[in-house]
Amino acid sequence: MLDTPGFTPITPAADITADRHGSRAKCLQRLIRMDLPVPQTVAIPFQTVRTIAGGDMPDLGHLIGLFEGEPLLLSVRSSSQTGDWGGPGAVLNIGMNDHAHAWLSNTLGDAVADKLYLRFIRSFAIEVMRLDEEPFDDAPTPAAARQVFEDEMDAPFPQRIEAQLAEVLQNMSRAWDGTSARLLRQAKGAPADAGLGLVVQRMAQGMGPGQSGAGVVQFVDPATGDPQITGRYMGQAMGRDALRTPEKALYLTRDARGASLEDMLPDVYAELREVGTRCRRRLREEMQVEFTIDQGRLAILDAVRCPRDARASVAIAAALARDGVIPRTEALLRVAPETLSRLLHRQIDPNARATVLGRGIAASPGAAAGKLVFDSASAQASLSRDEPCILVRRETTPDDVRGMHAADGVLTERGGTTSHAAVIARGLGLPCVTGAMGLTVDEKKRRITLVNGTALHEGDEITIDGSSGEVLAGRVATTEPTLDGAFGDLMRWSDDVRDIGVRANADTVADATLSRTFGVDGIGLCRTEHMFFDSGRLTVMREMIFAETPQDRAAALDRLLPMQREDFTELFRLMSGLPVCIRLLDPPLHEFLPSQIEGVRALAEALDRPLSEVKARIESMQEYNPMLGMRGVRLGIAVPEIYEMQARAIFEATVAAMAEGVDVRPEIMIPLVTARREVELVKRRIDGIAGAVRAETGTEFTYRLGVMVETPRAALRAEEIAETSDFLSFGTNDLTQMTYGLSRDDAGRFMSAYVNEGVYPEDPFGTLDVDGVGELLLLGAARGRKAQPGITLALCGEHGGSPESIAFCRLAGFTYVSCSPFRVPVAKLAAAQATL
Ligand code: PEP
Ligand code: MG
Repeated sequence: MLDTPGFTPITPAADITADRHGSRAKCLQRLIRMDLPVPQTVAIPFQTVRTIAGGDMPDLGHLIGLFEGEPLLLSVRSSSQTGDWGGPGAVLNIGMNDHAHAWLSNTLGDAVADKLYLRFIRSFAIEVMRLDEEPFDDAPTPAAARQVFEDEMDAPFPQRIEAQLAEVLQNMSRAWDGTSARLLRQAKGAPADAGLGLVVQRMAQGMGPGQSGAGVVQFVDPATGDPQITGRYMGQAMGRDALRTPEKALYLTRDARGASLEDMLPDVYAELREVGTRCRRRLREEMQVEFTIDQGRLAILDAVRCPRDARASVAIAAALARDGVIPRTEALLRVAPETLSRLLHRQIDPNARATVLGRGIAASPGAAAGKLVFDSASAQASLSRDEPCILVRRETTPDDVRGMHAADGVLTERGGTTSHAAVIARGLGLPCVTGAMGLTVDEKKRRITLVNGTALHEGDEITIDGSSGEVLAGRVATTEPTLDGAFGDLMRWSDDVRDIGVRANADTVADATLSRTFGVDGIGLCRTEHMFFDSGRLTVMREMIFAETPQDRAAALDRLLPMQREDFTELFRLMSGLPVCIRLLDPPLHEFLPSQIEGVRALAEALDRPLSEVKARIESMQEYNPMLGMRGVRLGIAVPEIYEMQARAIFEATVAAMAEGVDVRPEIMIPLVTARREVELVKRRIDGIAGAVRAETGTEFTYRLGVMVETPRAALRAEEIAETSDFLSFGTNDLTQMTYGLSRDDAGRFMSAYVNEGVYPEDPFGTLDVDGVGELLLLGAARGRKAQPGITLALCGEHGGSPESIAFCRLAGFTYVSCSPFRVPVAKLAAAQATL
């Protein structure tokens, strides 16, 4: 026996804390302080529950002595530190025995007494003593159920309330220590030593003469967060019966659906509404309230934070702040940044049934359903027929970008979070699953083979969920994205508090327009190669690549110049007043060349050259390690005309936009730098072009020239590189690839094994590796600042949209992060949270 009883009656003055008794106990105390009709309740703290789990039962006579009334029936509910961590289910009507049964038969009638006793014997047997459910199905009366219990247990059914309670408390305290319960709550962020409290409450019966029943009410719509009384009520019921069998329950509010609690018991209904209003103000939250009506009298048994969808969680937080119930800063902290990402995309309807065909990497969020297509031409044909389609490839190349524009979703067998398909899809806001290893894609035969050997063919329908990485059979119902006033409020309030900038990785008019809608601080990365994927331009690009003489190359570049100029002018117009950071061409040139024979044939035709010659040229350009080959600034040094054309296009666009009154803030960024001399060479040429454009147009303009830190050497040599740079922007996609020596396009193949085995805590292409890559960022930042204390520091890899990386960059004193347009809202909220 324990010396101290360890039971605290919950009264307004009692010393109850969520840290010692759990959030349910604390919430019940708040309800009691509000003078709500809460039945007598006693809290059992974590410490006592731990002792009980260890086999030491405190004096339950003391606990029972705290309650009044006859016959005494009790409920026990779990009370963990935060409601989200779960806990064992409630046990009701402890104390039901022959004596209580006789007493209830006299007062409430035999039917009610039988029902309560039968339910208790069943739940005690099945949930507490863990007996099989089946034998009880044939026991329709308390006597029969008792017999089954006694046969199974080979012992009498316990009649003393202490004995019943002891079993319940022991069972619940041990359930909390079970492996699956522990893993589940740890996945939700609970510490290893998280405690469980229990609350023991006198039952307020919802069964008996007159108006008696039980229900659950909430005061907002769980899907939208709009004020609306929803819930269910059931006569002659208890606990959550009304939710378990909603088809038998009444609605609460009067409407066209027929009888309601409002009609039946208008006074109680009005009282419930009042409870809702007062809970919202005092508990500063939208609550779901469990109540009973005992012969016309309302009792409030419990209240929990109202469950809610993504949209509702944003709407509720914003409405509480707008109504002055919580400060705006708290509203910002209450919404998980990822929630916003769900608002921006279609989602799988949570009520839909779906068969999972396979799983890959959740590369770009949102759900999409459509017919399978295996190449860009088929995707475009689907689009022209207005038929949704999912483009399936082993992996994507620039050739597939047209198809991605036309498709509703993308699925690849290979790749990871920063592979070509993933990056482009995120930019387009297109759902994408990459690295779906269990699926074998045969592009030629136009089919996917599943692990079990079944095949899906072109035209078959599938659904992909880019938020979970699941590939689902058939057309699964989805819900539409919704951006309402609450979303806008949250964005504005984030802007008011955050002290780190958020720019967008944007290369098209659509990207730039969308990011401006989200209130972005500028463009942090315009990947100019994306501007050449348009089919008309791809041909000119290929002509430039195939040029044999400087004259031919110059002629092709002359045709590309006005196209690029127009691209940049448009971006400058859209981003007037904000910086636009344009990256000079980065990928290896052969990425612009066709990989399939049909494409090579078309190219030979367009160039008017023999097929064999074109094939040979393409082959000669292949590299063993293209990501470490002729790309980035190496291209700028080996074929300087390309960067010169791009710089000229940027400056001419600057002059043209300025002439229209646009406030232009151009920035130019050099990719894949490894040495100071690379920057010097490129800078000299670009400065030269700027001088020439100034002279030709008679217009003065300024620009900033910076370096992408994407190689470990650039981070190590940041001091000397910073001397000639206005800014350093860390490209953490390549920097992660090169720091780990891990191909961003192939890592998807073994990443899940690596994460499962605990080699890496997470996929470093998805979550910034703070220990390794992060150290290079800090070191590069410190060395860059040594040369130029005020140098602008930024991060523009895919990590720029992840809350942990944003917090890291902020602590490291970075000026901004840049991420794909659809991540901008997430990043802004995460930036605000990091600041608060
Ligand atoms: C990077 O490497 O982090 C980056 C932003 O460039 P890209 O993804 O285009 O290689
Ligand atoms: Mg890069």
